[in-house]
Amino acid sequence: MNSSAQDKSAPCVVWFRQDLRTKDNPALRAAADSGKPVICLFILDDQNPGEWSAGGASLWWLHHSLNELSGKLEKAGGALVLRRGDARKIIPDIMESTSADSIFWNRRYAPFDIELDKILKEDLQSGGYDVNTSNGRLLFEPWEVETQSGGPYRVFTPFWKAMQAKGINREPLPEVTRLYGPKSLPNSDALDDWALLPTKPDWAQGFKSEWSPGQSGALTRLKDFLNDAVGSYSDDRNRPDKTGTSGLSPHLHFGEISPLQIWSATQDRLAQEEVPADHAKTFLSEIAWREFSYSLLFYNPKMLDKELNEKFRKFPWVSDREKLKAWQQGQTGYPVVDAGMRQLWQTGWMHNRVRMITGSFLVKHLLIDWREGMKWFWDTLVDADIASNTASWQWIAGCGADAAPYFRIFNPMTQGERFDPSGDYVRKYVPELQKMPKKHIHTPWEADAAVLKEAGVQLGKDYPYPIVDHKPARQAALDAYEKIK
Ligand SMILES: Cc1cc2nc3c(=O)[nH]c(=O)nc-3n(C[C@H](O)[C@H](O)[C@H](O)COP(=O)(O)OP(=O)(O)OC[C@H]3O[C@@H](n4cnc5c(N)ncnc54)[C@H](O)[C@@H]3O)c2cc1C
Repeated sequence: MNSSAQDKSAPCVVWFRQDLRTKDNPALRAAADSGKPVICLFILDDQNPGEWSAGGASLWWLHHSLNELSGKLEKAGGALVLRRGDARKIIPDIMESTSADSIFWNRRYAPFDIELDKILKEDLQSGGYDVNTSNGRLLFEPWEVETQSGGPYRVFTPFWKAMQAKGINREPLPEVTRLYGPKSLPNSDALDDWALLPTKPDWAQGFKSEWSPGQSGALTRLKDFLNDAVGSYSDDRNRPDKTGTSGLSPHLHFGEISPLQIWSATQDRLAQEEVPADHAKTFLSEIAWREFSYSLLFYNPKMLDKELNEKFRKFPWVSDREKLKAWQQGQTGYPVVDAGMRQLWQTGWMHNRVRMITGSFLVKHLLIDWREGMKWFWDTLVDADIASNTASWQWIAGCGADAAPYFRIFNPMTQGERFDPSGDYVRKYVPELQKMPKKHIHTPWEADAAVLKEAGVQLGKDYPYPIVDHKPARQAALDAYEKIK
């Protein structure tokens, strides 16, 4: 039992999780302010929580993010200790071996994380350790935005209104630039030994030119976005052929930037009248969708694998490995769907509009279970996030809270024509169609033989015929819905 909770010479531990930053980090700030020697710790537990352990694309990001964080902590006079395994064993061992008397962490909200943190907190407190936890991940913790009767929201608009009415009265915390560690640090694994990066084959080649994982990359993204794309956000956010969105999602997921930093920087620009109010507010409402997703998950932990709308639990999903594979590989014969799935594979990210089109195609045109899509996204997205991914997939499948009505089935041709009007997005990710004229870029099977020849496309050889016909597939989806309605 450790009895030196107020002892300034006893070290404290900061347990980094999804908060890989030195700015606006409440746990790190509090530890640094305690005046104690600080041990910074990151634990990779790839056994727990089983199927929700980070996917391949996330591990690529994590490697680079930890590298940057480690450098920043060293510059401040600290060091990042890396350990792999079960936090319930590693943390008490480190507390004991270093004579640390207190620990700081920022809270997480996935059901299994809440469970783990609760058990660990109780264990540590009963061992006499001081446990300090903070909110470093959300503008409001999931239970803080409540309906008037004190319950959770199921619909976004009133949630967003309630969030705005509560107001955000916090400012981001200053960066921790000075740390001092204990006389001797616990052993650390070498990051490279964790082998988080793919090698044979290195499927992440295309990620490098797209992303700069880490706090510096996050802050640059935010600055660039506020200097430029936010000015037309409401118009261009649906255009995958443009850089119309912030690209902050993986940085937010890994906590390299906090939503409070984004909120506050956007409000500052609004106050200076440097960004158009309507566009900036639409952007902030998207940050609120993230909060809403966390609230939904907090109050409905079973939604990770069960439909929120119970009538969908009897939906007649079809098991078709071949069609699932065609979807995953971007070989469905619908150009905008294929461009999206290939963007995902090549860059670890997909534009939101195209996530909706590809998601809808999987669950409605192919009648494949949304959980298959969710799992594929989990493994391939660099921003794979337990709350946003689950809530979005349920939304697309029509079985979630405030979901798209099931009968509203995205038409991949008209969606393509509307949101990628010149076909540039398709041409970028489906190079076989590079020379297809605008008229047929979203419907190559309708082009006559001369047009296809001129474009150098032999359907069925260079690029597939559609794996399902739109009209009958749409009808089959509506028929399936009739069975559970
Ligand atoms: C099927 C499907 C799966 C998705 N899976 C994820 C996921 O795993 N992780 C993830 O972060 N987002 C997910 N989204 C939501 C959304 O597509 C991404 O957040 C967005 O594309 C990220 O790009 P951005 O940062 O440029 O977004 P911006 O348009 O710049 O938005 C700013 C931020 O707001 C948040 N945001 C925006 N839209 C949403 C939304 N619909 N739901 C929740 N938060 C949102 C994100 O944190 C985003 O970074 C999913 C959407 C769909 C339809």
